[in-house]
Amino acid sequence: MLRALDVRVFGLRYFAHCMECGFCKDACCQYGVDVDADNVQRILAHRVALEPRLGVPAEQWFESEVEQDAEFPSGRRVRTAVRDGRCVFARRGARGCELHAYALEHGLAHRMLKPLVSSLFPLTFDAGVLLPSGEAVDGSLVCSGDGPSLYDGARDELAHYFGPELVAELDALRREVARAP
Ligand code: SF4
Repeated sequence: MLRALDVRVFGLRYFAHCMECGFCKDACCQYGVDVDADNVQRILAHRVALEPRLGVPAEQWFESEVEQDAEFPSGRRVRTAVRDGRCVFARRGARGCELHAYALEHGLAHRMLKPLVSSLFPLTFDAGVLLPSGEAVDGSLVCSGDGPSLYDGARDELAHYFGPELVAELDALRREVARAP
């Protein structure tokens, strides 16, 4: 799925330790997120437990349009709904993502429920290219600036989703970029 890289992922930096951040107010969750259609089914399998936590019926968790998109594992994606200016899965009265929190509390791998795009952010992908999100490039990401590179912040997630071989290749590329004059 990934076949090219925007080398700015090695240079752009951000805070990265999201749950230790005291100033972002989860701003990156304000627009909702694209989610793979199979991931939607995995989330809906937990609807009985998640509905009371979210306070929203499962029928209102996702937008109705289903888009064909070969970059997503199932080839289809939908978008999470936005409620009161935040993703429907953003925790109310607490920091973070309800899907992530629920997974941790129940001994589940958070990546089974949390969308791929959310797990990689502020890295993203488009047309087979791994690249920085627009917010990281234009500086509107509130935690932009200091900390690990976008690549290092998402390196474990990349290894999970795309395999250790890809990460080994990216590590080698990073060394090349660092040696370049
Ligand atoms: S799914 Fe979770 S991490 Fe992703 S935008 Fe919604 S609340 Fe944020």
